[in-house]
Amino acid sequence: MAEEDRLRTYRGKRDFERTREPSGGRSAEGGGRPRFVVQIHDARRMHFDFRLQVDDVLKSWSVPRGPSGDPGDKRLAVPTEDHPLAYEDFEGVIPKGEYGGGTVIVWDRGTYEPLSHDRQGRPVDFAESLERGHATFRLHGTKLHGEYALTRFRGRDGEDAWLLVRKGPAGKAGHGAPDPRRARSVRTGRTLAQVAADGIER
Ligand code: MN
Repeated sequence: MAEEDRLRTYRGKRDFERTREPSGGRSAEGGGRPRFVVQIHDARRMHFDFRLQVDDVLKSWSVPRGPSGDPGDKRLAVPTEDHPLAYEDFEGVIPKGEYGGGTVIVWDRGTYEPLSHDRQGRPVDFAESLERGHATFRLHGTKLHGEYALTRFRGRDGEDAWLLVRKGPAGKAGHGAPDPRRARSVRTGRTLAQVAADGIER
């Protein structure tokens, strides 16, 4: 599918005359391995946005409590619309009244290794594994390292939801989500409050 089509939902929700979010395009960090980003979004409800590059978009989930470094934690991940690759650079304030109004920081980002395989242990195309509802990958971020899995299930409301779970031993790499209000941007070192006070994208 062309980028235009894959981002139709994303663009339909936003007025680019008002929000400084990107309408499309690539990240300055692009090229090479697929990218991931975890943003903290102080919207109506505080949440983490977990995004994995698949081809020319960022597949996205809203994770209320953020990724955990503890393999015993199952973190709810609610799928949201595909975002443009350039979104991994977005940090700033989405105006009140606009879709997702509130402050966003880039908490962590980097690359990931797709690890999805079938029951016989053979590698499976990553996009296909997501379509089938179970994908595994290893994150190489500044804060997050190690293997995670995303698994789809049917929620109580009948809508699809996913679980984001850390795989393997937590160990010293068991970096989980921090208190979102104390967390700092991996891009600019700022907290949500500082970004909100600055008011504009840096
Ligand atoms: Mn969000």
